[in-house]
Amino acid sequence: MGKQSFKHWIGALAAAMLLAGSAFAQQKPNVVILATGGTIAGAGADVANSATYQSAKVPVDKLIAGIPQLANVANVRGEQVFQLGSESIRNEDLLTLGKRVSALVKQNDVDGVVITHGTDTTEETAYFLNLVVKTEKPIVVVASMRPGTAMSADGMLNLYNAVSVAGSKDAHGKGTLVVMNDTIHSGRDVSKMINIRPEAFQSPWGPLGMIVEGKNYWFRKLDKRHTTNSEFDIDQIDALPLVEIAYAGGNVNDTAYRAFANAGAKAIIHAAPGNGSVAKTLVPVLQELRGKGLQIIRSTHVNAGGFVLRNAEQPDDKYDWIVAHDLNPQKARILASVALTKTNDSKELQRVFWEY
Ligand code: ASP
Repeated sequence: MGKQSFKHWIGALAAAMLLAGSAFAQQKPNVVILATGGTIAGAGADVANSATYQSAKVPVDKLIAGIPQLANVANVRGEQVFQLGSESIRNEDLLTLGKRVSALVKQNDVDGVVITHGTDTTEETAYFLNLVVKTEKPIVVVASMRPGTAMSADGMLNLYNAVSVAGSKDAHGKGTLVVMNDTIHSGRDVSKMINIRPEAFQSPWGPLGMIVEGKNYWFRKLDKRHTTNSEFDIDQIDALPLVEIAYAGGNVNDTAYRAFANAGAKAIIHAAPGNGSVAKTLVPVLQELRGKGLQIIRSTHVNAGGFVLRNAEQPDDKYDWIVAHDLNPQKARILASVALTKTNDSKELQRVFWEY
């Protein structure tokens, strides 16, 4: 082979390899990772620090670079939306995140979105996105219980699994998902039930599925309205009204309820024991506040399947109160905030609590 034709042959081979490479890249789904902080971006002083560390330290590019295997399942790119411990996330941050997710899922070159998040309020953000983002594309919230610097850190596998689920065709139309500890939860149902240990996240009515080595195994569907079937749309929401949670146990008094009312709350989630019980000294206070226009929403802080029945513990029809159904107080706050952007009618709000 002459020098000239050898050069030509090498050039053609390189071009063919490039083409094959880009065809392979095109076959893989495009997944955007939106980073918000949390323990999954946390760092401790020592490998033995599984619980003592600072959250929200590691930037998204470093998180991605730490898992080269992500490139095997998707074309991944990252954006740092904010860098917070999730206990510090405010309504404004939720709106920023929701609007960014909504914009991304409208792009043809985005197949799925992953949100890295702190575990403390993962269940709130996932439920919020489930209510307000109009898409069939997978939105997956992921977190970790241990920082990446700890022995047996769970973030790497959780993130790998989350990207894999977000790029999966069979994850379409299932609402916002939370992937933790090999398990795929509905963002509507899931809750942090344990504040230590990687199996912290549980869904009272069971998870949707499992992910094992890049394959999804589905077991059930969410029956509640979400995403494309929701009447709420993040593109139409620019502020969330103030909804507060008042925690009730024994020896409860009216201080917090009245303070929240004075601060301008539009609704109070009564986070009660049992079946949304209301102490007899509190009944007239909640009636009075309802009379002033506040919505009273009875919820329960019973873990793992708390369920408030309408007109059972209290005559909700008579008092014009709302029950939060099976939503825990923090999820009830999210739904009330979103619903109040559309209506302040208590019957409409109760309908929303049954349907979502
Ligand atoms: N406080 C942390 C957070 O929610 C805890 C965690 O991520 O596990 O951001």
